Amino acid sequence: MAFKADKIWMDGKFVDWEKANIHVLSHVVHYGSGVFEGIRCYKSNNKPAVFRLDDHLKRLYDSARIFRMLPEYSMEDMKQAIIDTVKINKLKDAYIRPLIYRGYGDLGVDPLPLPINVAIAAWDWGRYLGEEALEKGISAKISSWSRGAPNTFPMMAKITGNYVNSQLVKIDALQDGYDEGIALDRYGYVSEGSGENIFIIRNGVIFTPPSSSAILAGITRHCVFVLARELGIKVKQHVLPRESLYISDEVFMTGTAAEITPVTKIDNIIISSGKRGEITKKLQDEFFSIINGKVKDKHKWLTYI
Ligand code: PMP
Repeated sequence: MAFKADKIWMDGKFVDWEKANIHVLSHVVHYGSGVFEGIRCYKSNNKPAVFRLDDHLKRLYDSARIFRMLPEYSMEDMKQAIIDTVKINKLKDAYIRPLIYRGYGDLGVDPLPLPINVAIAAWDWGRYLGEEALEKGISAKISSWSRGAPNTFPMMAKITGNYVNSQLVKIDALQDGYDEGIALDRYGYVSEGSGENIFIIRNGVIFTPPSSSAILAGITRHCVFVLARELGIKVKQHVLPRESLYISDEVFMTGTAAEITPVTKIDNIIISSGKRGEITKKLQDEFFSIINGKVKDKHKWLTYI
């Protein structure tokens, strides 16, 4: 993965990748005072197409509203800037990272007097990365770290500071030899992965934790709701005890980066046959058919550039 492109959009102007710097005393560096999104652009019918752009923008502005840091740019301005960033860098398969952050000016905890800056970066992200995980699945462990308790951190918002929790979950998993960590909520119920939502399947029904289980309401998670409904498969948002993972027929995780990834081992317990399940495969097939432009994009999930 080449983690580099030509230009980054910063507060209305394109700057060279190498010159896209901020002051080390910027508020966001010290206190996690930013909100962001992770968006994918896919090569679809040989043209770049941004996946669920409006939904990502909506979540970005929801996060900004929660953290009282709405930028001077409208959602429409931001949409255009994202499209321009993909265009100017001549990207097709790409990852797009818009970031709204509290900049430089003062280093008291109070963020309100500080400028609200905006940056948008995008770089090449081959879509076949992780193909093996999509087929063979990954291992995960229940993390010793929990997601934020209600009324501590707003876990519904994609705030940079919240990702301290995600990093702890990820480190814990990797150091114990697993691919990913699954955090429980403060009541001990299943919440989500470090950067993914989680689903289980039992007797043909799909279950996933509700938003009250300290999750980020994933956009890929919503895709699964829509695609499952179309396939005639029931999806229930339900509080899940940890042990329900171990006795599932199938487990998978969803996210912009993870797409729809099977989980075949949890806490050293093999899930069912230890292979990608049938329903997981069906959902992946539907998901990628839309992305590849093989079937009609009837939900208007793709913004062609
Ligand atoms: N939970 C967390 C903590 C995440 O960071 C992500 C990735 N944005 C997700 C879930 C999945 O969300 P989405 O499908 O919108 O990428």
